[in-house]
Amino acid sequence: MKIVETFDALQEALLRLKRPLGFVPTMGYLHEGHLSLVKRAKQDCESVVVSIFANPAQFAPDEDLDNYPRDIDRDLELLTGVGTNLVWIPSVINMYPEDFQTWINVEQVTKPLEGQVRNTHFQGVTTVVSKLFNAVRPDKSYFGQKDAQQAVVIKQMVRDLNYPIEIVICPIVREVDGLAMSSRNSYLNEEERQAALCLSQGLSKAEEAFHKGEKNAEKIREIVASVIDEEQLAELQYVSCAHPETLEELEGEIESCLLSMAVFIGRTRLIDNILLLQPKT
Ligand code: AMP
Repeated sequence: MKIVETFDALQEALLRLKRPLGFVPTMGYLHEGHLSLVKRAKQDCESVVVSIFANPAQFAPDEDLDNYPRDIDRDLELLTGVGTNLVWIPSVINMYPEDFQTWINVEQVTKPLEGQVRNTHFQGVTTVVSKLFNAVRPDKSYFGQKDAQQAVVIKQMVRDLNYPIEIVICPIVREVDGLAMSSRNSYLNEEERQAALCLSQGLSKAEEAFHKGEKNAEKIREIVASVIDEEQLAELQYVSCAHPETLEELEGEIESCLLSMAVFIGRTRLIDNILLLQPKT
């Protein structure tokens, strides 16, 4: 596995890789969720490139960039274990030199949900992903359904800007008790780790109700909210029952939706989601 830092070293290393080329962008502190993307890329492609970059542009000043967990040695060990060909670890100053002044903005689908509570977040995400795509020029790139809105936003950007890249969205990887894997889970103490189960439990309860015939968007949101409400350490930031593609909030009877939420467990902000779809007849 080759490890590079500079843009020039990346270009040189890319020349030696066989195509099709799969690309997995990450912020590091890797877990099985990230590795599932790399494994899928390995299945589909001849070579796999992973980037590790905690992107300052997608963190607001009051968010957790400085404390964002890092363990590069462990990350590299894990990436070697799943057959990664090339790891790119760019520096902040190389990605955002002092005179940096170009931003990518996807308009509609960035507005609701995460965009409503983290208003510069997606501009940071699309700008960095665009830069990473331009540098790596992959054939396919892999993202997790864990960040459901990000997946929608990236697909929109790729369509709008004609990137010749296939975007593959992979399922959420969960711990055995249901908690969606996340680098941020490492912030949770034992008690909070237990409390964090309310996210997946809320989604499961709503999913069960949906499949038993509950099709009212407001009722579905209420089921999630009441599970979160019962957990003392949890504070619901939002719960949304939205159109899976446009992300517009749904009212009344629904056929399908992206049910998603953000919840503070103590000071740690966690997100989770599930797609509620009618079984095909
Ligand atoms: P991050 O390092 O948090 O930016 O995540 C990098 C990629 O891994 C993103 O496409 C995430 O959606 C994806 N990812 C993170 N957690 C999971 C998970 N539990 N299951 C599947 N994909 C995930």
